[in-house]
Amino acid sequence: MEYYSGQIAKLIEELSRLPGIGTKSAQRLAFHIINMPGEQVEQLASAMVDARKNIRYCRECCTLTDQELCPVCRSQSRDHRTIMVVENPRDYAAYEKTGKYDGVYHVLHGAISPMLGIGPNEIRLKELMQRLQGDVNEVIIATNSSLEGETTAMYISKLIKPTGIKVSRIASGVPVGGDLENIDEVTLLRALEGRVEL
Ligand code: ZN
Repeated sequence: MEYYSGQIAKLIEELSRLPGIGTKSAQRLAFHIINMPGEQVEQLASAMVDARKNIRYCRECCTLTDQELCPVCRSQSRDHRTIMVVENPRDYAAYEKTGKYDGVYHVLHGAISPMLGIGPNEIRLKELMQRLQGDVNEVIIATNSSLEGETTAMYISKLIKPTGIKVSRIASGVPVGGDLENIDEVTLLRALEGRVEL
């Protein structure tokens, strides 16, 4: 015998596919949703559908955006010759929050991890190399200071070196293993200002 009716079971099953949501959490969320006002449920559902439908990768920097170009890439007042390479859109947001960086970004959507089987082709590295054929002055590698982040930084710097473009790495003021998004703005700026050329 089924514990829950088909539709509730289906909702629980769908929710439990989300990262970090186990069966128990999925059940709790499902019953919460069922008790929410119908209007709110519809807002939640359409927010998900709209985001999924309209959010895409920025044509330049690969961050997530609902336009062809993200606000930074679109901006005329940014220095488009300085590219900061970050692992994900959250890191991009963390640097943007400081309001002190005036270059542009490149979002890799991950880091190289031989252990997890993530190679250079699984992240947005090819897109970065394509951008470097344009007018670029400096590439600042701001991947995390985790093993994966360092591996990625090393790999990228080796790729870029022959092009003659300046490559730098943010200072190691960023705690080892620390996700960039959890670091305060002062530390982030110090890491950026103290970057060293590779
Ligand atoms: Zn962009």
